[in-house]
Amino acid sequence: SIAMRQDILDLIERLPKEVQNLLEAVSETAEEEECSVYIVGGFVRDLLLSVPTQDLDFVVEGSGGQFAQALMRRIPDGKLTQHIKFGTAQIIFPDGSHLDIASTRWEHYSFPGALPQVEESCLRDDLFRRDFTINSMAICLNTERFGELVDYYGGKQDLQQRKIRFLHNISFIDDPTRMLRAIRFAERYHFDFAKETLDALHTAIETGVLSKLSVERFTEEVLLIFREVNYLAMGQILVESGLFKAWFGKELAWNFNLDDAENSKDWSINMRWLVSVSQMESAEIGTLLERVILNRSLRDETIAYVQLRESLMERLTISEMDRLLNKAPKEVVIVLARDERFKVRILECLEAGQRINMSLDGKALLQMGLKQGPEIGEILDRVRMAWLEGRISTSEEEQGMARQWVNTQR
Ligand code: ATP
Repeated sequence: SIAMRQDILDLIERLPKEVQNLLEAVSETAEEEECSVYIVGGFVRDLLLSVPTQDLDFVVEGSGGQFAQALMRRIPDGKLTQHIKFGTAQIIFPDGSHLDIASTRWEHYSFPGALPQVEESCLRDDLFRRDFTINSMAICLNTERFGELVDYYGGKQDLQQRKIRFLHNISFIDDPTRMLRAIRFAERYHFDFAKETLDALHTAIETGVLSKLSVERFTEEVLLIFREVNYLAMGQILVESGLFKAWFGKELAWNFNLDDAENSKDWSINMRWLVSVSQMESAEIGTLLERVILNRSLRDETIAYVQLRESLMERLTISEMDRLLNKAPKEVVIVLARDERFKVRILECLEAGQRINMSLDGKALLQMGLKQGPEIGEILDRVRMAWLEGRISTSEEEQGMARQWVNTQR
């Protein structure tokens, strides 16, 4: 309706200037190329909800590749990458943000969880391929129709009624990651599931479609959850709904830890992940690592976490502990310092470490007459240990101790 179009124009006017300029550039390119162009998906949803959004996804009725090249002439600081096989193009800006362009297409799934095959088709089909009604709306950007909402599947009504609804009841069979996405969006916006969608979720869990899902896609979706402000509640629902059990099997008791909901706001993704695995046995974390695909830093930190935790179970001297804590990634130490079993000892060790005020170094030992060799490192270690254990507490004492050792070495 006309009124609706005016509402959308008003909302667009409130967007950051750079975004408005981009929409303008896309609109002008569409005139030049004589094709229809739409902004789709998350952008439209977030625009109507008046919440900020990052991703810009466009659908071109025609060749996406050709459109992208024409658009590039208007945004010279972008870098264009084309994925011909998928009929998509991406323009990346110097600040790391990007926009995606798809040509209208239809995707077939030869088996659940498989990669889609692409064929040319129309906007309606492109939108039907999407996960939820609230993500299946488009806004036309051609000059004559600028700001016109395209809503074939009732997305606007579901936004108003705050419902997460699949476009059709076997949607999750086409792509089981949509079950995880449903929980993520529901919790992010505090929406409910439509009844049919909830039924479908239960069916999906009972019939075990999740086992068809690729490890990569499952992990990707799980990690997206850790980026959300509300990730603890989402994790809790994944556990309670039986979704994790359906994917990992019974042996894995992955649980999210709710104790720190308040403090976790500023935590990195890696720390949130480590806390979420912290209630699992080391062997279970090992099994988990076999079943997910993490990036290098997250995998390394998870392994470092398990190793340090195992070591801390042993009786350690403060110097042994100091050595281990210094070697481990900082985030791992912070997460372990929340663990009741280790808290006191870790804090004691860190405090002792802060009292160290070493002025001695290798050069000073050479000047005292020691020869180049492994003894230098050994003596430095022993002096550090003496500081830690409180046997020395001034640089005079430090000097005296070093001199004594140097003399016995000569
Ligand atoms: P976010 O705010 O988390 O980025 P988004 O809606 O932009 O949310 P993306 O993952 O960037 O989410 O996906 C962009 C759009 O692509 C979605 O709005 C949705 O229409 C569609 N989409 C993404 N993943 C799927 C999927 N698994 N099945 C169907 N459609 C999907």
